[in-house]
Amino acid sequence: MSPVRRCSRTACGRPAVATLTYVYADSTAVLGPLATYAEPHCYDLCSEHSERLTAPRGWEVVRLATDSGPVVPSGDDLEALANAVREAARPQRGPGSGGTRDIDPQEVARRGHLRVLRSPES
Ligand SMILES: [Zn+2]
Repeated sequence: MSPVRRCSRTACGRPAVATLTYVYADSTAVLGPLATYAEPHCYDLCSEHSERLTAPRGWEVVRLATDSGPVVPSGDDLEALANAVREAARPQRGPGSGGTRDIDPQEVARRGHLRVLRSPES
């Protein structure tokens, strides 16, 4: 039904398993599950090229877990994945220190229901 997605690297014709999205505003490259449709600044990558991905100087790479194979997750799966990354990136604090739930400093961008988060070491 849908055409086979191919790796966007030059001279590489392997099937794509992940989509790389550049968030220019935050100098962040997000490697996540294969996007359901192509967007500007998105590049499909095969498993080999996604593993060998390196960010340009001054950029950080956010890797979302991807299953092997061109599995297209549902929106709920993506949101659960984003929440899991969000929880992992959240600094551990005791109760009572919150109060700013509405603005999460770890959250740098939103793409629909998929949140883009900084890596915890930055
Ligand atoms: Zn490739």
